[in-house]
Amino acid sequence: MKPYNIPMSVPRLLSQLQETDIALAERRQQAAAFKAELAADPLAVERAAIAAKKDDLEKLRHDLREIAAEVDDFSARIKHHEDQLYSGRVTSPKELSALQKDIDLLKSHRAPGEEQELSLMETIEETEKAIDDAEIALQRHKEALSRRRVELSAGLTKLEAELAGLEKHRQELSAELSPAVNTQYDLLKKQKGRAVARLEQGVCRGCGIAVTTSWMHRARAGEVVGCPSCGRILFLE
Ligand SMILES: [Zn+2]
Repeated sequence: MKPYNIPMSVPRLLSQLQETDIALAERRQQAAAFKAELAADPLAVERAAIAAKKDDLEKLRHDLREIAAEVDDFSARIKHHEDQLYSGRVTSPKELSALQKDIDLLKSHRAPGEEQELSLMETIEETEKAIDDAEIALQRHKEALSRRRVELSAGLTKLEAELAGLEKHRQELSAELSPAVNTQYDLLKKQKGRAVARLEQGVCRGCGIAVTTSWMHRARAGEVVGCPSCGRILFLE
């Protein structure tokens, strides 16, 4: 940390404090993103779609039962008439013809129901297949999600350890600075985002304005000098 025990200049300490704050902010942001992703339920839409399809299927099955009951009712009546027709007990051609007419009429009434029954059975089969496919896809997505969550949890643990290290480092740096300098740094950070600016070839990298030689000398001597233009504390390597 401090080679040869030479105390670091205040601007250098401030520059390191700033680096630490930047690293802290980045990791905090990442940790928040990981937490948000862990808390999210990305498969909710898929599950809701499957539930809706299952409701549809129930309704279709119910409709099919009702239609089938109607068709069965017609079939029973047709059978009853046909039994009479072929029993040999009815011999009058007029009665036989009337029976046949009734049978034909009943069959014509039954026909639309039978068609509906077939069409419903087809739709039910398609819906069942769609549900199966959606459930297989959901299972695959659940597995991928759980792998992602394991990754996120591990990432979060790593980030939290890094954050603890950075926070400790920040405290150490801050402890070497006077309360007045700490306050000045915090205030500038709040106002400008970054409190410390590198001074390169006489130019403040915070605002791009050249400073006078006397400012350069003071900064080089390790004095806490603010850029005359943007006010950031100047740091000379
Ligand atoms: Zn400046």
